[in-house]
Amino acid sequence: MIRFTAPALFLLLSAAAGAAQTPEPHVNRDPERVRFITSDIVNFWGAYDAASREPEREKRIAIYQREYLDRGSTGLRDFLRMRIKSAENLVAAIERQPRYYASTRPSTLRVREMEGAMRDSFRRFKALYPDAVFPDVYFVVGAASTGGTVSANGLLIGTEMYAATPATPRDELPAWMKPVLKPINALPAIVAHESCHFNQKLPEPTTLLGKAIQEGSCDLVSELVADETINPGQHAYGDRHEAQLWREFQAEMDSAGVRNWMYNGTTAGERPTDLGYYMGYRIARAYHERSADKRQSLHDILNIRDFRDFLARSQYGGSSAARPRRPARVPAAPQTRRARSPR
Ligand SMILES: [Zn+2]
Repeated sequence: MIRFTAPALFLLLSAAAGAAQTPEPHVNRDPERVRFITSDIVNFWGAYDAASREPEREKRIAIYQREYLDRGSTGLRDFLRMRIKSAENLVAAIERQPRYYASTRPSTLRVREMEGAMRDSFRRFKALYPDAVFPDVYFVVGAASTGGTVSANGLLIGTEMYAATPATPRDELPAWMKPVLKPINALPAIVAHESCHFNQKLPEPTTLLGKAIQEGSCDLVSELVADETINPGQHAYGDRHEAQLWREFQAEMDSAGVRNWMYNGTTAGERPTDLGYYMGYRIARAYHERSADKRQSLHDILNIRDFRDFLARSQYGGSSAARPRRPARVPAAPQTRRARSPR
């Protein structure tokens, strides 16, 4: 998912109006300089403990506002505007599934363990795409709606969606949420997926085809640099039903409606949700496998100008027979210098 925040638009306009006045925003191209910011998670559990001692709901909302949201990082402020919406909405989510939230605590406090793997996936991304930019990554606790998104300030990860363990209570959860929950060690895949979105320069997709390629190509990038996608279930199902899915997809791909293929947690029925990601992944992968120059291929995939033309050049035809399950492993780019300690 891509969203540009108001500050980005303002920056673009002001840069055009008086380039001399406003300096170019700092763009980080060095994987070693990425900060993985987890301070919001610590603040969340502080607010959670204080609120659990407060019998009045209005005062609990005020505690989350004061102790968590008002003390938030730049990333949490963006995530609040884009996904959490309000302290009231956050408290409603926590109190709708209290045992689930309580169960997420140990996993959300393990994000640091994944730092090495996440930074390594950035090094591998840089090796494949030297123009890549690497914003800071913010790990927050959200209102159980989104695993990840991006703003102009960085990658925003809802860690409560990456806290599933075999002991996780799921009976409180809505149907759409159960199949999308992931364990904490799936963090490198979502961070790689979102870093792909941050680097995409695509026209705004107006059709199912465009949306599927926008998302599916980030599944490909996460597979290339983090060795897995955020949708393993969709890929397993897709591989078993590929030809059928491609026939159905072709019939709808030029339409604006995506509901049969994406964000369809409540309507997918027997099928996994979000199979549009899989179709887009297959098209991007067909293009990548046909390309002798893998760097040029990734450049093309992240800078598509016309989705229909890209499909034609991928020569994707609905089958992935006789192809290895995973593309060749991408070695990391040589390290430049030691990482700055995260704040
Ligand atoms: Zn995405």
